[in-house]
Amino acid sequence: MTDTDAAFEPVAARIESDLTELSGIRAPDHPGWTREVFSEPYRDARDWVAARMRSVGLEVRRDGAGNVVGVLPGRSPAAPALVTGSHTDTVNGGGRFDGTVGVLGALEVVRLLRESGTQLTRDLVVVDFLGEESNDWGLSCLGSRAVAGELRAEDLDRRDGAGQRLGDRYAGFGLDPAAVLAERWLTRRPLHGYLELHIEQGPLLEQRGAAIGVVTAIAGIERLLASFEGRPDHAGTRPMHDRRDAMVAAAHAVLAVHREGCGAPPPGVATATQVVNDRHAPNVVPASVRLRAEMRGIDAGWLAATKQRLAQDILTQAQALGVDVTFDWTSDNKIVPSARSIQDAVARAAARAGLAWEAVPSGATHDAAHLAPWCPMGMIFVPSRAGRSHCPEEWTDITDIAAGVRALADTLRALDAQEDLVADSR
Ligand SMILES: [Zn+2]
Repeated sequence: MTDTDAAFEPVAARIESDLTELSGIRAPDHPGWTREVFSEPYRDARDWVAARMRSVGLEVRRDGAGNVVGVLPGRSPAAPALVTGSHTDTVNGGGRFDGTVGVLGALEVVRLLRESGTQLTRDLVVVDFLGEESNDWGLSCLGSRAVAGELRAEDLDRRDGAGQRLGDRYAGFGLDPAAVLAERWLTRRPLHGYLELHIEQGPLLEQRGAAIGVVTAIAGIERLLASFEGRPDHAGTRPMHDRRDAMVAAAHAVLAVHREGCGAPPPGVATATQVVNDRHAPNVVPASVRLRAEMRGIDAGWLAATKQRLAQDILTQAQALGVDVTFDWTSDNKIVPSARSIQDAVARAAARAGLAWEAVPSGATHDAAHLAPWCPMGMIFVPSRAGRSHCPEEWTDITDIAAGVRALADTLRALDAQEDLVADSR
């Protein structure tokens, strides 16, 4: 190990102490470590993050979209900046590591840079993006979406289950909705690249005995709403051969979705997530049933083909039952490949640090997906115990987190020194 290497060895105890402090800021009446977007614990946690950013030497501001942004100035203010970060909101009943590892890991990188007297050429921008997790407005990654110019005025009119407008929740959180829409800084300044450290949230790294995941792509998501219309009849008197039972057609569809997932090229998956009988009565043959399902994968060909096969399969089964079916498909997230140049840089950094690495896809979506159209994007994964995530049992050992921070620090320094990163994903 050279002196320079030693200077960039993360101090696990500091990261662990930050994680413990931040995880203590949570909703006391919810399970696990709950810090949902726009909640009071989330507000407190982000004040804590901003203060911690200042204490490590970052220039901190809140952008108009509600992101907490810390800047470590580089030697050449005109050079396109390097960006890193993640999020500190959680799902209801979530864990301590999803998102927080990327934000707190970046703060440890800043400490290492300053302590070693290293000034990067470029500004290093550390972002705690607002509201990354899915919410009742059906819009994840609120902060990264906004700065990428993907948040639209009509999105602010979306209402949650309680009828509350998204725009009103922004206002209640002290954010001007007009400023949220106008804050599109990703689209206004050239950036050198974006690198996010995150827990894997799946089992691949643990199974393969790898410390570092070099993320190849973030999965695309296709969502299906299938509406089945049959005929309501008395469930006690209508003979079995003379029914148009929408529930049975939906049940066939659930199995069809499952079959598609089982036959998907890894890491493709397919999940039926909801079946609703709109006119439920205990003694009526179901006549109006809605099914929701989603398919995820990094193979565009498979995603397209599975949509077609599924539609045909569901239609054939429904017709045989005398049930009409209509399909409403939405593409929630496109497949987002990581930049080859950043994948290579992460792999080299891991190898130099003696860390076993594996190329892995991301089945979950991340803020990084919204940065990718604007600059070369990459992600570093660290293992999740038993692949558990979005639950209180979510766990990553501190040694694994420190290894991820090491890879983050080394890769950021390497990227800083490169003239121009190629966004090419091949
Ligand atoms: Zn996350």
